Amino acid sequence: MKTPTVLLVEDEPAIAELISVNLRHSGFRPIWAMDGVAAQVEIDDAVPDLILLDWMLPGESGLNLAKKWRAHPRTKATPIIMLTARGEESDRVQGLDSGADDYIAKPFSTKELLARIRAVLRRRAPEPEEKVLQAGPLSLDTATYRVNFQDKPLKLGPTEFKLLQFLMSHAERVHTRGQLLDKVWGDHVYIEERTVDVHVKRLREALGEAGVMVETVRGAGYRFTAQHPAFH
Ligand code: CA
Repeated sequence: MKTPTVLLVEDEPAIAELISVNLRHSGFRPIWAMDGVAAQVEIDDAVPDLILLDWMLPGESGLNLAKKWRAHPRTKATPIIMLTARGEESDRVQGLDSGADDYIAKPFSTKELLARIRAVLRRRAPEPEEKVLQAGPLSLDTATYRVNFQDKPLKLGPTEFKLLQFLMSHAERVHTRGQLLDKVWGDHVYIEERTVDVHVKRLREALGEAGVMVETVRGAGYRFTAQHPAFH
């Protein structure tokens, strides 16, 4: 696997050095830019795998840069983690609203930073191509977005599709509503756990006969089972 490149946009050399050393030790290739202008030069040269972006920078602020890069086709899909001395809830929301994938307040431990980087890269990792998930008579094709039951196509909404894809790739395991929100909706979406129930209901309806494969586990959450007696 190729070494992931992390573009570090940070104006304080001591912090940049500390982060760079840790990134290098953990198998990343850090590239340091002092400000937005220098960072843009790097991006124009090669799009990094992830951007670590300080909020308080000379010239254009990290917040503006995040908005700009998020809107640009070249960097639209590049994960951004904001670094900042600010720790207020409103700052956090502002940071995430600007398009950042995550937010980490200084001072932070490098261990925590690395964990966040890995988590963001995992979330952004593209799905393997042409993967068909199969459970008895039910199949889900992650490349064509098709779901078939007994060779007949089913119509699923995008959220129901993602939910089913997650459940089928982790069949026989119980997931709490919170875990499903985290895995299917992403952790920075502030929605109620009840939303999960609504989508599970819709998913079951869309699955028709196969809806029984999505089981409610009382007091715990939901489980997808390929072992349902109806299909054995
Ligand atoms: Ca700074």
